[in-house]
Amino acid sequence: MAKLVYSFTEGDGKNKKLLGGKGANLCEMTQIGINVPPGFVITTEACVEYLDGGQLPESLMAEVKAEIGDLEKATGKTFGSGDDPLLVSVRSGSALSMPGMMDTVLNLGLNPDTLEGLIRQTDDARFAYDAYRRFIQLFGKVALGIEDAHFDERFEAAKAAAGIVSETSFDADQLKAVSDEFLDVVREQAGREFPVDVIEQLELAIEAVFRSWMGKRAVDYRREFHITPEMANGTAVNICTMVFGNKGNDCATGVGFTRNPGTGDKEMFGEYLVNAQGEDVVAGIRTPKPLAEMESEMPTQYKQLVALRDTLESHYREVQDYEFTIEKGTLYCLQTRNGKMNAAASVKTSVEMFREELISRDEALLRIQPDLLEQLLHPALDVGNEAEPVALGLPASPGAASGKCVFDADIAERLGNEGEEIILVREETRPEDIHGFFAAKGILTSRGGKTSHAAVVARGMGKPCVAGAEGIVVDVAAREARIGEHIIREGDVITLDGGTGHVYLGAIPTIPAHFSGELAELLEWADETADLKVMANADTPEAAQTAREYGAMGIGLCRTERMFNASDRLPIVIDMILANNAEERKAALDRLLPIQRDDFIALFTEMAPFPVTVRLLDPPMHEFLPTEHDLLEQIDSLRTYRQVVRGRQSAIATLDHSVKLPEAFEELTEEHVNDALVRKERMLRKVRELWDVNPMLGHRGVRLGITYPDIYGMQIRAILEAAVACADKGIDIHPEIMVPQVITLQELGFVRQTADEIVAQLASETGKTINFSFGTMIETVRACTRAWHLAGIAEFFSFGTNDLTQATFSFSREDAENKFLPMYNERGILQDNPFEVLDTKGVGKLIKMAVKGGREQREDLRIGICGEQGGHPESIRFCHDVGLNYVSCSAPRVPVARLAAAQAKLAN
Ligand code: ADP
Ligand code: MG
Ligand code: MG
Repeated sequence: MAKLVYSFTEGDGKNKKLLGGKGANLCEMTQIGINVPPGFVITTEACVEYLDGGQLPESLMAEVKAEIGDLEKATGKTFGSGDDPLLVSVRSGSALSMPGMMDTVLNLGLNPDTLEGLIRQTDDARFAYDAYRRFIQLFGKVALGIEDAHFDERFEAAKAAAGIVSETSFDADQLKAVSDEFLDVVREQAGREFPVDVIEQLELAIEAVFRSWMGKRAVDYRREFHITPEMANGTAVNICTMVFGNKGNDCATGVGFTRNPGTGDKEMFGEYLVNAQGEDVVAGIRTPKPLAEMESEMPTQYKQLVALRDTLESHYREVQDYEFTIEKGTLYCLQTRNGKMNAAASVKTSVEMFREELISRDEALLRIQPDLLEQLLHPALDVGNEAEPVALGLPASPGAASGKCVFDADIAERLGNEGEEIILVREETRPEDIHGFFAAKGILTSRGGKTSHAAVVARGMGKPCVAGAEGIVVDVAAREARIGEHIIREGDVITLDGGTGHVYLGAIPTIPAHFSGELAELLEWADETADLKVMANADTPEAAQTAREYGAMGIGLCRTERMFNASDRLPIVIDMILANNAEERKAALDRLLPIQRDDFIALFTEMAPFPVTVRLLDPPMHEFLPTEHDLLEQIDSLRTYRQVVRGRQSAIATLDHSVKLPEAFEELTEEHVNDALVRKERMLRKVRELWDVNPMLGHRGVRLGITYPDIYGMQIRAILEAAVACADKGIDIHPEIMVPQVITLQELGFVRQTADEIVAQLASETGKTINFSFGTMIETVRACTRAWHLAGIAEFFSFGTNDLTQATFSFSREDAENKFLPMYNERGILQDNPFEVLDTKGVGKLIKMAVKGGREQREDLRIGICGEQGGHPESIRFCHDVGLNYVSCSAPRVPVARLAAAQAKLAN
């Protein structure tokens, strides 16, 4: 039969599954010579057996009794009798730390006999009765299921009767009376006498700890955090000899961290209380003192504590969070575990532990959760802030920002350029609001999800965004928004926290982003380790600059349509779309060409000597036009207005000429209104003409490039002219042209030919030939199946996993996320959101097929991914495993991706 109980001196400190985290560490500490009170661990297997069979395993109590015998020998105390009674604590602890399980029972082993013994031994009746009444209540609650309220009621009554405020003022007799009252509560509530047999006490407490594993809060917690039986199955029970921090002023209890978990600084960090029991420190009844004060108050013990800290760190080689108690001058350690730290402290301690030769570089790299790093790149709300949020939306893009509310992108742009700090507040945003984003410190919308336009664009720019804050009613016309009873007018200051989704009134102090020297160093190690290169998705020189700061090795995706949306370009783009013939279109394109060229010059210069991958125009053209609905409304108002102008004209004509009209009445003529109407009506016809039944599968990408060749022609020319301009200035650049939505080799051939013609033209115009590489997005299912052919022309592949995921699942992201995906996830029909976490099973299979086909055709084919998943650690792992060369993600995810790429390599 399996052994169910292990003494602290024999349990395997590595076996947390069997002994629980707390138990394993108590064993480990005991065995490396740390002063832990003697004790033993009952295994999680015993727990599982108890829960399966409904009763304690047969041999368990015999093993427990044998261990108690050993404890008696080790301590010279006796359990259940004598002048020096053995008291123990009964503590839960599973493989993973998990709130919601049962409380610890302290002082178990007290009964009328041992109580007398304790009084004689300590000569302190007050202390003994205090321990007794605490034990009755805790045991009553944990083992007998009696609610605290019943005890508290009696306790308060006793305080009132004695006329005292604080329980520390009770004397021994009063506490004795309280104990009797408590025994009475047990009789009343549990319908039984409080057990005096200490073995029965122990047995009941063990069973209660086991049962707490299936308590509602514990079960909910495991479900919420996806804790499977493989990770933690059942709780262990730790039985530990009691030590007392409350026996006088040479006693104390406290908790510590081996380093400061907020800053990572290597210093004594923690709190303690003199003359107190462990729970008092956390309970907040008395205010604990910082550990630094112990140096003068208890110098000998302080030295021991410093030694304990050093031993823990050099043994565990990881920051520890520990509990200690000092009884009559002797220091005991009662618990240790890996300390939870914020991102900055995790990075700092890992890098410093490498420098201190405690850990290897690889360990430092593996120790930090990549996702945490994003925290470090954005300003955060000061943790001390106590302001109440007035609204809650979705945490759509992390970071905190304060600024004046503006409800319109044009005003935001104007005020932003004047140097004002602005928060753009909209019901939802559209591509034509983009200039407002540039000007804003943060974006708040009352509609839309984490993948709404506002969220995606804000994330790309690294600006905080709270989306879909439904409590907010935005009234653009009145230039105000209502949140409950609050009215926010244009210019009022609010604060957003894009990491939590909270919205606050007024300005709340923020802590600036901090890309520390340690982080930079850690990420350099990551780059040296990783096979995958990390590039960035960036569309503007500003975004490119941020991406470089974060260590991007080039731009893997520049979406040219983002450039089209800026307010000085959109009218030209619209002219181009509305063009009635090739000539008109060329005129508009001729105006766009120098603008695009300048964009590329700036981008190439910023990124040199790294490559910049420019994707040719991708979205359907109607995305640059207003919606049909908006146009119909505008046309309607224009017609009404025309009536007004006509009416006014005929009124003036019939009036006496002596009537002098004020100058302000200088009016638009009917002709002006007609011009506006004609333009709007043309736009409406165009919108209807361009309308796609299903825009995602409609007239977009290379299909657009082939039906309107001059558009791609203009873009390619702009790229290549920019390349010439940079080369002239001696800048080392590597432009890459990427074609979206490709399904067949012939499409690529068509675009490649256009490019070659332009190269030839430029060569004859300037005498220079430009080197560029030419590749394709792989984002259609057909492209995956025809990869071998496509690689005949394409020199690189970039998986567009957003579209590829949509195509593989045959549903659109917006519809899925808004309508059925949450339920699919909840019901376990799909494990994750495939638009956030790459679906390695389905989409991944297509990717593998394309990689294989592509490399068979062209051995040195460069392959990357530029979908949103490219910044997700698990997806990066997959990309590494299938042999991609690079991942490209939004700038703020670049550090995350660099670390994840290194971890992917180290995992093999
Ligand atoms: P938790 O997991 O909630 O921290 P613990 O089992 O660690 O529960 O115990 C709760 C409190 O009781 C802690 O402050 C701990 O230090 C203290 N404690 C536990 N066992 C003993 C003991 N044998 N002697 C003294 N204090 C103890
Ligand atoms: Mg603890
Ligand atoms: Mg795409």
